[in-house]
Amino acid sequence: MTSNRPIINDRARGHPELDIVRRHCRFLRESQWWSAADLRDYQWRHIKRVYAHVLRHVPLYQDLYEGRSSHLNNWDEFLDLPVLTKDRLMESDGGCHSQRLPPGHHALPVIHTSGSTGQKMEVHPTSVTEQFRAALSIREFEWHGVRPEGSAMVIRALITPDEPNYEALMEGVRAPSWASGYVAGLVNTGPGYFMDVGADVQRQVKFLDAVRPEYLMSNASNLVEMAELWTEDRRSRSRLKLIRTLAETLYDDYRKRIEEAFGVPVYDAYSSAELNSIASECAGCEGLHVQDENVLLEVLREDGTPCEPGEVGRAVLTGLHHYGTPFIRYELGDMVESAEPCSCGRGLALLRHVHGRTFTMIQRPNGSPVLSSALFHVLNELRGLRGVQVRQHGPERFEALVVCSGADAADLSKKIVQAFRGVLWPEVEVEVRVVEALQRSAGGKLERFVRL
Ligand SMILES: [Zn+2]
Repeated sequence: MTSNRPIINDRARGHPELDIVRRHCRFLRESQWWSAADLRDYQWRHIKRVYAHVLRHVPLYQDLYEGRSSHLNNWDEFLDLPVLTKDRLMESDGGCHSQRLPPGHHALPVIHTSGSTGQKMEVHPTSVTEQFRAALSIREFEWHGVRPEGSAMVIRALITPDEPNYEALMEGVRAPSWASGYVAGLVNTGPGYFMDVGADVQRQVKFLDAVRPEYLMSNASNLVEMAELWTEDRRSRSRLKLIRTLAETLYDDYRKRIEEAFGVPVYDAYSSAELNSIASECAGCEGLHVQDENVLLEVLREDGTPCEPGEVGRAVLTGLHHYGTPFIRYELGDMVESAEPCSCGRGLALLRHVHGRTFTMIQRPNGSPVLSSALFHVLNELRGLRGVQVRQHGPERFEALVVCSGADAADLSKKIVQAFRGVLWPEVEVEVRVVEALQRSAGGKLERFVRL
């Protein structure tokens, strides 16, 4: 399945920025096979540079690291730096951005994070972060044997209602290429089809059936909804080869439902607006390779010590090339599970799962904890349950918003209450509300578990 055929073309040689991305692509094709120790050395060189930079040019870090040495001498000094929370970063009121960029880094238009946790944040990308983003995307396509000349459909959060192309993107837009920016300049791409994830699912499925692309990219929860409507008839006409999920956690049950309905493999990638590509699934084995050349990812326990392989912990990230808005030991808010190195031979670190924000411990009244995923495990087995969002209103009070498909709603509600009582505790208070559809957040994400 893995293809290592380089996919970049020779067009536009001599274009200075594309040549930089081309060099990054060559570098990344080699560095993925470096030993973990060599990758660590590479990260260390970049961390030292970023650290020296933030002490000179970023007010937030000047405050945060007051009294510390002006340069890092060893890993212990780095690991002693405080973990930076999103709240602390937001409180800095713009003090988290560089007042000056190093030579060779050019400021690009400011972007905003999707704000699925209720906090919208400004990020200052640069030419360098975008060049790395493009090269990492190209490497990811190579890992999965993507044929860029093929056509691709992208259904994601693209618009807000006040934008001029709102109507068009709700109907579906056809474009000569599915790629943009540096990627479009470096690979020969086939046509692209775009639609907003907020569009009616029936309409999405009709569009997919009409344009018959080879590749499909969308939010995992949206693909699950599409899978429900992907009939045998449609499947027999389809030319799909591969599906990539984005923006949300790809749960095991989601993967199963998507693969069964569409009959093609699905792979997951983990990224954030702040740091771009963080990890991407390995085509040969079970897990996601960390993009070690872009970020240092630490998986930490509650007490701040590092997790062993197999343990789930907090994702704490340091950006290696991010000088516009630097991130050092930044807690993204996601839970991830680290793993032993991959059998494919790449030295890149491996994650078994990205659990996102929904990997939540629920405390039983007797003090014993239970994982929210245990609840979903049981709920997903219920026939006629098309979608569910669990909201926790207090320590002992839950609400389940459910979308039914052809099942008797009263009977299904009874089974949902039974599932809660079986997994959590017998007297747990749960209100089941049948809804037409589950509401996505502004970023097009659909959270399975929400604590209110
Ligand atoms: Zn691998």
